[in-house]
Amino acid sequence: MLIISCSGGGGSGESYYQYHTPEDIDIFLDEIKLNYPDITAIETVGYSETGRVIKALVISDNPGTLEGEPAVRLTGGIHGNEMMSVELLIRFIEYLTYGYSTSPDIKNLVDTRYICIIPVLNPDGLAVKSRYNRNGVDLNRNFNATGTSLQKETEALQNFSSSKQFCLSITYHTGAVLVNMPFDYKSKLIDGIFPVENNLINSFALTYTDATESNFLANPDVYNYIYNSNYGDYIFLNKGTINGGDWYVALGTLQDWSYLQTGCLDLTVEVAKRNPTSEAGVQQIFMYNRGSLIEYIKKADEGIYGRVTDSEGTPISNVEVTVTWDDGGETTTGDIKIKTDSNGYYNRILLAGTYNLTFSKEGYTSQTTSKTITTSERSLLNIQLVPL
Ligand SMILES: [Zn+2]
Repeated sequence: MLIISCSGGGGSGESYYQYHTPEDIDIFLDEIKLNYPDITAIETVGYSETGRVIKALVISDNPGTLEGEPAVRLTGGIHGNEMMSVELLIRFIEYLTYGYSTSPDIKNLVDTRYICIIPVLNPDGLAVKSRYNRNGVDLNRNFNATGTSLQKETEALQNFSSSKQFCLSITYHTGAVLVNMPFDYKSKLIDGIFPVENNLINSFALTYTDATESNFLANPDVYNYIYNSNYGDYIFLNKGTINGGDWYVALGTLQDWSYLQTGCLDLTVEVAKRNPTSEAGVQQIFMYNRGSLIEYIKKADEGIYGRVTDSEGTPISNVEVTVTWDDGGETTTGDIKIKTDSNGYYNRILLAGTYNLTFSKEGYTSQTTSKTITTSERSLLNIQLVPL
């Protein structure tokens, strides 16, 4: 398509693959922005410990504006030695931007979503192909900052994410082939601890792995990819998905932070046991995941959304939206806690069902509304809050 295909290794592109450096990625993002100015925007997430810029590319019809569309975050390169996670996302950026003018499906997806891609969260690590950042810290254990101080890369992503109110995300890794779900900090099988909204999480994770299965039906080469992954015979995988803590317990992960602190359903997707050594191998892993990514992003519109304003129509930001429902006579409170964004919009992913939504903010009378969600289309619920 454009830039990526010419930057493979020297000689025969099949024999080895020269992975992109943080500087290559910066140039690539600038080129994308130049080529597709109407549907892309570059935002600065922050800076690494050595001062390298961490960039995000927003892909949407009005990329500079939060319009109440489901906001999706895709992150690669949190571990700098897992280069495939970076390559996958830059290929996906090409796929969406190039496809916008050639595929009605892609155009529709881009027009109705706010897709934010951070190909390299740990540029210092990527520069030297190290798992860790410049201070030797594993960023994917740093999100609760216990023991180690909060690193600049971690803090940058936390602040950036809090400003966007993402509802769905994926963080890409290599080292295995599976989709890892919240929680990482405790085991479901051993400790019996799992998210309240486990069914919702399973539904989204299976959407990702199921699409690899339908890829298989169209293309036999994909057989045994994530859906049929047999990674490590000793672990229990459900169609390629697993609760993180049942694989191994990890504290301070981005996934648990996103889910528990920001109400964003984050999956940790492991796309290959090791980084491919050829251009063809890199392309193959991308192709295995492409359809899954599209289906996952499509699913971001399941649930309810709307705008919270005062009686004058002025949007109200930072309104907490709490969801409860009747579960066999008991009232259950969802653990996905979200807030309205700076334009007053909220987007709450939900399975079909009947829910009570409570909107609250200091200085206003809280309001609770019951809503039945019957289809996989987003339901609209605008709210007016009255000042106390
Ligand atoms: Zn990793």
